[in-house]
Amino acid sequence: MRLDDILKKATKEHWSTGHFNISNLEQLRAIMEAAKNLNSPIMIGVSEGERKAIGLKQTVALVQAFYEEYGIPVFLNPDHSKSVESAKTAFDAGFNSVHIDLSKLPYEENVKGTAEVVDYVKSKSPDVSVEGELGYLRGESKVQKEIIEIKPEDLTRPEQAAEFVEKTGITRFSGAYGNIHGIAANEPKLDLDRIREIRKILPENVSMVLHGGSGISDEMMKEAIKAGIANIHINTEIRIAYAEALRKSLADNSDEVVPYKISPPVIKAVQQKVEEKLKLFGSVNKI
Ligand SMILES: [Zn+2]
Repeated sequence: MRLDDILKKATKEHWSTGHFNISNLEQLRAIMEAAKNLNSPIMIGVSEGERKAIGLKQTVALVQAFYEEYGIPVFLNPDHSKSVESAKTAFDAGFNSVHIDLSKLPYEENVKGTAEVVDYVKSKSPDVSVEGELGYLRGESKVQKEIIEIKPEDLTRPEQAAEFVEKTGITRFSGAYGNIHGIAANEPKLDLDRIREIRKILPENVSMVLHGGSGISDEMMKEAIKAGIANIHINTEIRIAYAEALRKSLADNSDEVVPYKISPPVIKAVQQKVEEKLKLFGSVNKI
């Protein structure tokens, strides 16, 4: 199954695939258990920091092993590769999805670098989907105590989105529509009209991605999916579920030193969070 085909189907049927980040094997196991349980296609993301923590080849091998055992369509994505080199290196290591994020660079440089990654990937594996990013996304994937204000100029303009897609050849478009990374003191408010306008102007074979899914209300998420979002990124909420369950497990069993006896409630907590999101996104039984 090609990721782009799954996303095209999701767009048409108004549901969304889930993209979840991992820093270790426990989180990966939890996400794969959830996907298997709910018969849902799944994306696993690793940022540059997360890639460094697990190892590029190690991440590829682990995901491949789960794929062989569970038979669930799973796409490993180098989330927010901040340079052409970093995206190419992940692809060369065996990632079956690519994300190049040059959104902080001037527009022309973003176009040039993103197109270079698309050309590189397509020349070797035409079926691998490449995501590009346009517009400025504030925040980090953690709990932020301050209010994060979004400025109008941060948001992606529909005409520029269309031009960006045409010039780069990407098939996954990530934009700024009022979303932020991580959880802030204020709840983000998505610009649903903007999502609808961008969806209308983009070609059918291009799907829309929403980053910073953590902290967005369930109601607004459903509206965003209806408006055209086919892929939602969740990281911070997974991290919180993991850290809180780990602290509790350690406190509840303060004499325990065996890691695999400490981790089961932690895996369970992450799995539950992922299942909750997959149900919200409508991706249950979509294999
Ligand atoms: Zn992101």
